[in-house]
Amino acid sequence: MPYAYKITGTHPIKLKDFDPGDDAGLKREDAAEKLAKLCDELTRLQELLYAASDHSVLIVLQGRDTSGKDGTIKTVMGPLNSLSCNVASFKVPTEKERAHDFLWRVHQHAPAEGEITIFNRSHYEDVLVVRVHELAPEKVWRARYDHINAFEKLLADNDTVVLKFYLHISKEEQEERLLEREQDRTKYWKLSVGDWKEREYWNAYTRAYEDAINKCSAPHAPWFIVPANKKWFRNLAVAEAIVAALKPFEKQWLKDLDIVGQREKALIEEYRKSK
Ligand code: AMP
Ligand code: MG
Repeated sequence: MPYAYKITGTHPIKLKDFDPGDDAGLKREDAAEKLAKLCDELTRLQELLYAASDHSVLIVLQGRDTSGKDGTIKTVMGPLNSLSCNVASFKVPTEKERAHDFLWRVHQHAPAEGEITIFNRSHYEDVLVVRVHELAPEKVWRARYDHINAFEKLLADNDTVVLKFYLHISKEEQEERLLEREQDRTKYWKLSVGDWKEREYWNAYTRAYEDAINKCSAPHAPWFIVPANKKWFRNLAVAEAIVAALKPFEKQWLKDLDIVGQREKALIEEYRKSK
């Protein structure tokens, strides 16, 4: 059973209809076992993806401050082979980046054949923070939903599996996590007064996220709304969604590997005979 809600654009959603505290009735201990199995499955699929090199995978992580983007990368993507897995983090654009169109800095990090790339924040910031803080005129950011859809269609047409995750936490949970950071020396580096200021725009962000999800969801580039108040459930939900998205390709990848194997074995055989 899927734990994250897959949105493919069939009908508009409202975030208030999704419970950030959802855990599908699971117990934390059972989830740990399930997650370990899913991570094993994911590393196996990653190996086939890399070997067959027919597809690439783009995982977009979005969510409010403290929603767990870094934690998800550490736990779910940590076990992946770094030979073919990259993380690209998108911060406030540099002067050079700002001198280009908003997709310029993003496109160059799109995964190559056989690779998995994780976007830690993404091109969606250009219709989120930019919209909420009026960093660009409305006419400019409004046009970006179409640009994003065209960009993601281009990637999908180029055999990229595009999966986008919104890590859904409640306002109360965010406050707890922000306060927790102040008590833990190892988390001091994450402290930012900016996070407290952003909280004041909670409702504006909700509207911006809803629009991004409603305007930019398609079967070839779905959003997943991930209940993220419980970190263990968030990890499980993200891992499950990725495995479910990649599993249907397994047979094709194995078949393509057979073709490669037969071809190379025939060449080796020919070479041996010629000796
Ligand atoms: P963090 O992910 O906590 O390291 O913070 C990165 C910051 O960069 C966040 O506050 C984002 O909102 C901001 N950011 C990322 N992309 C953009 C963008 N395109 N325009 C403005 N701010 C951005
Ligand atoms: Mg931050």
